[in-house]
Amino acid sequence: MAKTAENYGTKVFNDHVMQERLPSATYKALKKAINNGEKIDLETANVVAHAMKEWAIEQGATHFTHWFQPLSGVTSEKHDSFISPTSDGKAIMSFKGKELIQGEPDASSFPSGGLRATFEARGYTAWDPTSYAFIKDDVLCIPTAFISYTGEALDKKTPLLRSMEAVSKQAERVVELLGEPIGKIKTFVGPEQEYFLILREDYSKRPDLYLTGRTLFGCPPAKGQELEEHYFGAIRPRVSRYMKELDETLWEMGVPAKTKHNEVAPSQHELAPIYEQSNVAIDANLVTMEEMKVIATRYDLICLQHEKPFTGINGSGKHNNWSIGSDSVNLLNPTAHPRENLRFMVFLTCVIQAVYKYQDLLRASVATAGNDLRLGANEAPPAIVSIFLGDDLTNLVKSIIEGIEYKETPEGYMDLGVDVIPRLKKDSTDRNRTSPFAFTGNKFEFRMPGSGMNLSDPNFVLNTAVAKCLKDFADAVEGSDNINKAAFDYITKALTESQSILFDGDGYADAWKEEAAKRGLLNLPSTPDALPAFVADKNVSLFEEMGVLSKVECESRYNAKLEQYSKLINIEALTMLSMADTMYLPAVSKFSGEVAASLSAKKAVGVTSKAEMGLLDRLNAGLDAISDGIEKLAAEEDKASTTEDDMAKARAYHDGVIPAMDELRAA
Ligand code: ADP
Ligand code: MG
Repeated sequence: MAKTAENYGTKVFNDHVMQERLPSATYKALKKAINNGEKIDLETANVVAHAMKEWAIEQGATHFTHWFQPLSGVTSEKHDSFISPTSDGKAIMSFKGKELIQGEPDASSFPSGGLRATFEARGYTAWDPTSYAFIKDDVLCIPTAFISYTGEALDKKTPLLRSMEAVSKQAERVVELLGEPIGKIKTFVGPEQEYFLILREDYSKRPDLYLTGRTLFGCPPAKGQELEEHYFGAIRPRVSRYMKELDETLWEMGVPAKTKHNEVAPSQHELAPIYEQSNVAIDANLVTMEEMKVIATRYDLICLQHEKPFTGINGSGKHNNWSIGSDSVNLLNPTAHPRENLRFMVFLTCVIQAVYKYQDLLRASVATAGNDLRLGANEAPPAIVSIFLGDDLTNLVKSIIEGIEYKETPEGYMDLGVDVIPRLKKDSTDRNRTSPFAFTGNKFEFRMPGSGMNLSDPNFVLNTAVAKCLKDFADAVEGSDNINKAAFDYITKALTESQSILFDGDGYADAWKEEAAKRGLLNLPSTPDALPAFVADKNVSLFEEMGVLSKVECESRYNAKLEQYSKLINIEALTMLSMADTMYLPAVSKFSGEVAASLSAKKAVGVTSKAEMGLLDRLNAGLDAISDGIEKLAAEEDKASTTEDDMAKARAYHDGVIPAMDELRAA
């Protein structure tokens, strides 16, 4: 136990190591470049690279890699050894500044959503010095952004970094307008990662699980999650040992894993880290997802990160806890008297406005084939974006909109009905678990992201939308004689315009769908419904204005996501066809043959069995249904896979293939 603190971050080239190992001039130059977002000169890079290599070799590393996040959503790495042969037949270990700063993987095999056709096939990786290098499996991993020869983003990290810069800049402007600056402003993310663990031997019997990450066939077990005994239940020994090793591995890699518990569904668990600056938190989440899978196999377990591995029980999400502020001030902290806290109200208003105006983009940012199975199902947030504020803030917002006096709710206490337990202050933001975007005390929790996704997408969208609303605010009040009055008038108007996005009721209820439609809120249930938001004029203008994505970059993201959707469903359809053809049909056919043989043997001795007759009828009807289902799915798959236009193709998968898959599954 004592060693835990000692081992924390030992595999990370962190600030502590840098201070220890870099000459002080280099350290200062590096820190300055990082803090001010400046370019790092080659001389500095050479010194850093040398120190990094020496340190990595001491840790047992032999290779380095530019670790990046292509549009396919998983991380990529190509390992290069430090070996550099010398003329005397020996070798030295070398690593140059140039190799640290820039790499050149072959871009042509990564999804680019059409950028490749328009531009050069070459792609470059560029060091993100704001996220520490670390060692994974004896390889020095250098977090990088991945861009094309002409500078277009080919990855998920680049727009995230750009959005962080945009929102910092506007937030600093707003804070300064309203009074004292609070220093460098950043966005923070705390991602709660849900996952399933199942036995490897069960997994290996299921082509659907190992090819698609979810079960395509199956019926509910006699005992599901109805007893609600799994959530927060005692963790079984094998899982507990797994979680321990996972924690220790993550801590060594500097990932601040904090909370772990059993989740609602059987075999479902969650890990939550302590929040960090957005890009660092997302890198850490990607490392976590990878280690979860790798370590599971050592316990003969398989870690499933699909959003909905099993029909009929809860799926897995990844709640994105988000806040904005400096290292010492959280701008979303309402403080004791929020009404007096104009700065808080301005930031709150701008987030509300951002979510209202760009609800389509937020929905699109979490759209995947897997997440479609989760959003709108009974335990996940609906596909309609809305904001939960809690009683106090709702009343406050109402009082501003209606121009009436705000009465602070007297401190509420929860009556636990047990005198020996001290009175607890009632959390004014008491959780509404059905809300997709909930204010939880001093941060917002975006609950739509799925467990399997890279959180860069929802975060760059959210950051950009908030940056734009902060900018509009600053532009409007800058230069006013009475800034406070101008600010108050502005937020009154903005809240009035955006108030239809606020909803504290039950997001799972059908009544909400009707109500939301009346309010004019968008309900985009599927990925093909949601994705066009990426190329809508108003959103392209947003990304261009904030310097986060160009028009072609928006289009490439749209194309890549659409293509990914169709490909995934195609794999699922083909897997189903093959399983039905080679596993279910032959099994039912064989069994029905046995029943028929038994019946005819009985007939030979002059008896008959009503039960077996009935069974045979059912088996035969089932065989026909499966066979019809196969035929229909094959036809729909054929139609979809030969459709040319990308959107028409995705629609064909959604409207034709998925219903046919459902029919075959039912059969
Ligand atoms: P719950 O399950 O009740 O939502 P958890 O404790 O599991 O809560 O997760 C909350 C997550 O929010 C943690 O990852 C935590 O670090 C993160 N978090 C807490 N404060 C902030 C903040 N100011 N900004 C961003 N994330 C935060
Ligand atoms: Mg949560």
